[in-house]
Amino acid sequence: MSNSDCLFCRIVSGEIPSTQVLSTDRVLAFRDIAPQAPVHIVVIPKVHSSDIAQLGAQDPALAGELIAAISTLAAQEGLEQGFRVVFNTGSDGGQTVGHVHAHVLAGRSLTWPPG
Ligand code: AMP
Ligand code: ZN
Repeated sequence: MSNSDCLFCRIVSGEIPSTQVLSTDRVLAFRDIAPQAPVHIVVIPKVHSSDIAQLGAQDPALAGELIAAISTLAAQEGLEQGFRVVFNTGSDGGQTVGHVHAHVLAGRSLTWPPG
């Protein structure tokens, strides 16, 4: 998929606006447009990769940078009571945007398993 066809690449380029909460050299985090919890942040690599399986195989250091960004966000957003990180992957995983992203959900009690 080329960048111009990818929603999250267009967010990285600024073509589509987002509410950014964190930006590093290689990682961007922004508020989800349809939040499923009081805090719902999407964390992505700025370079395109389709899902966490592809990213973990191609650039595990960048996958680690996503986790580091989540640590920063947890402190920045005051998530001392906890949070959930979800990488929806592929069709059975419910992935609708084909650019790898972590959902960070917090601010309410999150039941398990999810519906
Ligand atoms: P997934 O279903 O796991 O692929 O997650 C895609 C997420 O992207 C969903 O939670 C959407 O609400 C979110 N989303 C879609 N478009 C935007 C946008 N323009 N800005 C922020 N989040 C978005
Ligand atoms: Zn992309």
